[in-house]
Amino acid sequence: MRLRNIPGAGEVIAASPYVVQNPTEYKGKWHEIFNNTAPIYIEIGMGKGKFITTLAKNNPHVNYVGIELYSSVLLRAIQKIQEETIPNLKFLCVDARTLPDIFAPDEVDKIYLNFSDPWPKDRHAKRRLPSKEFLARYTQFLKPEGTIEFKTDNRALFDFAVEEAPLAGWVIREITYDLHHTPEMMENNVMTEYEEKFSSMGNPIHKYIIARD
Ligand code: SAM
Repeated sequence: MRLRNIPGAGEVIAASPYVVQNPTEYKGKWHEIFNNTAPIYIEIGMGKGKFITTLAKNNPHVNYVGIELYSSVLLRAIQKIQEETIPNLKFLCVDARTLPDIFAPDEVDKIYLNFSDPWPKDRHAKRRLPSKEFLARYTQFLKPEGTIEFKTDNRALFDFAVEEAPLAGWVIREITYDLHHTPEMMENNVMTEYEEKFSSMGNPIHKYIIARD
């Protein structure tokens, strides 16, 4: 998702208490930001933020960090909650490639990937967020027992992700090709913006949960 460049987005982001401005300075010190030692769950490619914002409100004893590449998109997430105070939620405007410079080993407890960009051309496979190259980056900061939860309606991207996981040393713990008709995996499901859109069109939603081998 890339929205039209929005004048002033940079200023709003720079002034928002939700956005961590120099995140590399907090590598290994994220609990100082939240002022507690609760677990940290991150969503990479959060878009307009409905999923992670809802999770943060529902689970005050977990810390959440939403990561989005584009300032024009992050702006939408900030605007939706600027009248609210959600102390266990922060946002980063960074490329996911830089995350090993932002989180120290074992600093993150769970990673969510939702409706990641498919990058359909083979030569762009390394840019897909569930690729083995990205999984190797996540290994650098996710706790050994930590999990990755990935949802998409894109079957080609999901098949790719299922093939990549073992190549990077991950095992599939749970999998469904029709999440909304799999009650045991639907429990506590929070829909993302893309999930609402594509499931309302009748597309089945695929989901896996993977862990380190
Ligand atoms: N997760 C949301 C949802 O399910 O509604 C948004 C899905 S949208 C298709 C994917 C989002 O991931 C876009 O907003 C895009 O800018 C972001 N994104 C893609 N590559 C990224 C990267 N390398 N680092 C951070 N964000 C990225």
